[in-house]
Amino acid sequence: MGFLINCRTCGKQVSSTAKMCPHCGERSPEPYIDKFKYSLIALLVIAIIIIFIFFLFGWI
Ligand SMILES: [Zn+2]
Repeated sequence: MGFLINCRTCGKQVSSTAKMCPHCGERSPEPYIDKFKYSLIALLVIAIIIIFIFFLFGWI
């Protein structure tokens, strides 16, 4: 069961489970923003852990 996303190439609605966009043939129609968002969250988590470690040892 998927949901509709907008193709990053043509902007038309595509099922999130689709292997390629049926409108323009883009092979991975999921928007870049999703991957960007995930890496941003990962960076944020790492930053929080580093700050926590510094705080734990009384370095700040
Ligand atoms: Zn497309």
